[in-house]
Amino acid sequence: MTADLNIFRQVDDAKVKQFDQLSNFEIAAIFKQLAKNNLRHQPVVNGGRGNPNWIETTGRLAYSRLLEIGVEEAESTFQHDAGMAGDVKKAGLYQRVMTALNDGARRDVFLRRVIEAAVNHLQIADRDAFMYELIDGALGDHYPYPPRCLKFTEQILAQYLQKNCFKDQNLVDDVDIFPTEGGTAAMVYIFQELHSAHILYPGDTVVVNSSIFTPYLQIPVLSEYDFNVKTVTTKRSNNWQMTDEQFEELKDPKVKAFFAVNPTNPTARAITPENLQKFKEVLKANPNLIIITDDVYGTFSPDYQSIFAVAPHNTILVYSFSKLYGATGERLGLICMHKKNVCDRLIYENLLNSHLNELDEQRYSIVATDPHKMKFIDRMVADSRAIGLYHTAGLSAPQQIMMDMFSLSNLREPEGDAYVDRSRQIVTDRYNEFWNTLGLQADQTAENTRYYTLVDIYRLMCERHDQAFADYYKQHYNYLDFTYRLAVEFGTVIMDATAFGAEKGNVRVSLANLTIQDYHRIAQDMLDLVDEYYEQYQQR
Ligand SMILES: *Cc1c(COP(=O)(O)O)cnc(C)c1O
Repeated sequence: MTADLNIFRQVDDAKVKQFDQLSNFEIAAIFKQLAKNNLRHQPVVNGGRGNPNWIETTGRLAYSRLLEIGVEEAESTFQHDAGMAGDVKKAGLYQRVMTALNDGARRDVFLRRVIEAAVNHLQIADRDAFMYELIDGALGDHYPYPPRCLKFTEQILAQYLQKNCFKDQNLVDDVDIFPTEGGTAAMVYIFQELHSAHILYPGDTVVVNSSIFTPYLQIPVLSEYDFNVKTVTTKRSNNWQMTDEQFEELKDPKVKAFFAVNPTNPTARAITPENLQKFKEVLKANPNLIIITDDVYGTFSPDYQSIFAVAPHNTILVYSFSKLYGATGERLGLICMHKKNVCDRLIYENLLNSHLNELDEQRYSIVATDPHKMKFIDRMVADSRAIGLYHTAGLSAPQQIMMDMFSLSNLREPEGDAYVDRSRQIVTDRYNEFWNTLGLQADQTAENTRYYTLVDIYRLMCERHDQAFADYYKQHYNYLDFTYRLAVEFGTVIMDATAFGAEKGNVRVSLANLTIQDYHRIAQDMLDLVDEYYEQYQQR
């Protein structure tokens, strides 16, 4: 075995180097290919994927039921054998649908219960209008109107954010929401608009909390934005939290925007409650700071609260249903802003003070009678369709109704909480198996989402053998050597975390996508590989 591996090693240095320039997603794709013909003929396990291997079922079944009832309603208007029906009639719709939801099956019980609860809780006077939004929306018979967000959907989403992101800060009545094609589209719209609305100029300083989801490192440096991007990189030694010095950096008024994924990907930590409070100090010193936060992993950390809750007027919140609900294919995300926010104030001040006034009057005059009062969030909607197609902007109505179903399933108690608890437990069990197998102390702080985990392979080498070996490895091997050999020899794919902005030697394992047994195997393969390196080190 050892002889074989030595032959193998003579070629791989050059091979590994060629990957240096590629993004870590590309590298993972190549390593996955290589893993198929691994030397040990093991089945491939891919611990690189962030897509969860579970789905939420109740919301999905409920959606299908709305669609089914919608078709029956449409057919009661008129019906043709060619597979054609009329449009849904609003008058009396609430009662008709509630009557149709008459069987004891899970989805009917669920729908009756959450629709009634929504009517009561949101004090919906026009029940037919609410039911029409759900049924017509599920059918996708009309352009979504208003384009930014369907009326009742916005209220439901606000309740969802209140429960999962705002927590003890009551903001439910103070927010505007723009549903988008996933969280990634939301980020694109935000940066585009910060640029178009002249809130951020080329050369402006944008601080990115790193390590971060790689595509997010790439957006702000695009040539059309040309921001001066700085990173504040968190360290394992500080439980991946920002230091006081890093908070100080944000107080410099030259810093125009701060960009964070919270809880993070790949380090999988939420900002602690104490550190959250520090944003208030930052804003006292730098009141125009715009904070952009991606809260997709929020529900995976038990004590989590969004930056939005402590800095609502300065924060643009992005949420995605992709991970918790196993719904990456649905493309369900949103942007949330406080009704009184720094972006609108800056637009107004800029326009009062400069020639941009006239330009922007023209830019939005085709869609707004009072363009300079057009809110940042509405500008995002208009600009997402090059303004001219504003009336056809917005997320598809069926997607919005699917979001309603996920949100309503979450807002039910205790079932919604049980689902969230279960999703946390799944990744926790895998996490514990993985770290126990490695024989290293796992982190058990409340901030840890356990959705991903970063392993410092130098630390692993040191703890399993000794520091001299770890140092030797660090000096003599390309940083991609470990993940490369894990793929080609063992058929085990994990991601190098350097491209996420992490320190060299860190690898990311996603706990979202495989079985407990697979995580045991990944850890065991990592140990075996470490031992192989150690053998080579001793024979050098
Ligand atoms: C997976 C992930 C998302 C989800 O993006 P969608 O476009 O909603 O699928 C968003 N942000 C981060 C940091 C992620 O890791």
